[in-house]
Amino acid sequence: MKHSKKKRKYIFVVGGVMSGVGKGITASSIGKILQFNGYKVSAVKIDPYVNVDAGTMNPVEHGETFVLEDGYETDQDMGNYERFLNVSLTRNSYMTTGSIYQKVINKERSLGYRGKTVSVVPHVPLAVVEQIQESAKNEDADITIVEIGGTVGEYENILFLEAARMMKRQNPHDVAFVLVSYLPIPSAVGEMKTKPTQQSIRTMQESGVFPDIIVGRADGIIDIPRKLKIANASMLHKQDIVSAPNMKSIYDIPYYFIQEGLDNRLLKKLDLKKRNNEFGNFHTKAWKKFIQSTKNQKKEVTIAVVGKYFDTGDFVLSDAYVSVIEALKYAGYGQKTKVNIDWLSSHDFESGKRTVTELKKYHGVLIPGGFGNTGIDGKDMVIKYVRKNNIPFLGICLGMQRAAVEFAQSVGKLQHAESDERNIKNSIPLVTTMESQKTKIKNANMGGTMRLGSHAAVLKKGTLARKIYKRETISERHRHRYELNPKFNDLLQSKGMVISATSPDGQLPEIIELDQKLHPFFIAVQFHPELQARPLNSHPLFNAFIKASLKNKK
Ligand code: GLN
Repeated sequence: MKHSKKKRKYIFVVGGVMSGVGKGITASSIGKILQFNGYKVSAVKIDPYVNVDAGTMNPVEHGETFVLEDGYETDQDMGNYERFLNVSLTRNSYMTTGSIYQKVINKERSLGYRGKTVSVVPHVPLAVVEQIQESAKNEDADITIVEIGGTVGEYENILFLEAARMMKRQNPHDVAFVLVSYLPIPSAVGEMKTKPTQQSIRTMQESGVFPDIIVGRADGIIDIPRKLKIANASMLHKQDIVSAPNMKSIYDIPYYFIQEGLDNRLLKKLDLKKRNNEFGNFHTKAWKKFIQSTKNQKKEVTIAVVGKYFDTGDFVLSDAYVSVIEALKYAGYGQKTKVNIDWLSSHDFESGKRTVTELKKYHGVLIPGGFGNTGIDGKDMVIKYVRKNNIPFLGICLGMQRAAVEFAQSVGKLQHAESDERNIKNSIPLVTTMESQKTKIKNANMGGTMRLGSHAAVLKKGTLARKIYKRETISERHRHRYELNPKFNDLLQSKGMVISATSPDGQLPEIIELDQKLHPFFIAVQFHPELQARPLNSHPLFNAFIKASLKNKK
């Protein structure tokens, strides 16, 4: 094989002082600047929790679950990697403590260790190394960015640092370490403090790994005296200490890093030279064009996103829907339009804290995916209002299921039409599970068993969906246990609902819409289009939704 001899390089990105300072974005940006330099970059994310994947976690706690093409339910940082690097990753690119132990245990059960005692060290870190190398090979990456979740000094991620140490020992010139650390500016003191970072450096060294680069996340820029202090503590050159101040747009960070000379330093540490090739030029040019579009917004629309995961404040809210937010933004950029998003809790419509007539002021309304039984009635109220008042509507996953139920109840006069997820007695099962799901639910076999990952759908001629996609067959990513019940396809259509896309066998509705004679833009999809929206490739559905919202504004 042509590529098998390729020397693959690895950059481990670890956190210092505290988590939640943007390690994923930093790691993605590092990948981006190496792409500019002509290197094929891939990414691996390691989450130190015991959950085997991110699918069983509450988004309020963990943020969005990002589903890969192959259906693996992963951390939202995987979305950052796909968006920044313009790649589609596979399940080898993600691991957790749980998934690694599961691998080791499965190997032991099948005599894979040939009678040896299987120990936490080295067997667990060796399994980590194996997967990282496998991922690099699969993606045929020149450089693989490996982000280790959490911060150095935590009990939880120590085995992953040990894996990194092993890789460094084996090929010192092929592995580099980036410590992304936080530099607080306590208000009582008024100056940037380096001591917590110095301590993190020491903690990192105790695990046997030494930083090659330190990225200092802070509210401001790190000045030279402070860079020198950090350099001294880490035995690095001051050029290896890189500022990462807060930026208005995360997409500007790669350019900031280039300005700091980070690409040159990293290439040097990895014994690599700048490459001038077509791949690097393509990414340099495409990113530049994208960045220009982000700074050229002449119009504005305001979209209401009605969900239920924002009961605990702004931070959590944007974390649970990060792909939806980015998808809306990209669609705006392409149309020189700033997209403002208002987050409305569906509970507020139920409790009377808000009235649906407030929705009049929005140019478009989006209902994203969701799970569970609360906040559903509020969503139905919102759907009814936008349907009757010609407000552009995009429903995603649960948003589509509710659009179908609301339509069946109100327009179809099928008062008892419901989703089985709500478990209401004597209801007409308009939204139900497939046969294959029933035993899974019965046996509480819930992890990684939904309808997941990319599935094809066929679009009907003459529909809005077909106009938007300009194609007959599409492939989109799914994550749901329930479906529109194909038994009712004819009934729904006889009442005027258009089923504009189905699974290739013609059974499962994948997109529903209202005839444009009845409503200017009412469309809902069973899949998650936001997962495929990219800076370099905004998503046609979001583009069309923003276009319709702009038109509605006029
Ligand atoms: N709760 C619904 C289901 O499981 C919708 C899921 C979603 O919106 N992602 O089918």
